[in-house]
Amino acid sequence: MSNGDIRSLQRKNIKRQTKQQKKKLEKQLKLNRLLPGKCVACSTVFDETDKKIIDEWHIVVGSEEKTVNLYCPACWVKQK
Ligand SMILES: [Zn+2]
Repeated sequence: MSNGDIRSLQRKNIKRQTKQQKKKLEKQLKLNRLLPGKCVACSTVFDETDKKIIDEWHIVVGSEEKTVNLYCPACWVKQK
């Protein structure tokens, strides 16, 4: 295998990875646009810049990703 072959293989892998990341990002952006920005039950504001909050809150995606409901940890417990 020549150096040229290796280089083109590497480029192929990078390209595929970027495409997957882009797809993932687009999905996230789409969900972010649909996010109500606050808890649907108690209206506590959802701070999407706080990583801890993102981990604790629950996002419930409806059918065909057209509706997104957001629950703060307290309301999520009540919900169950
Ligand atoms: Zn709540």
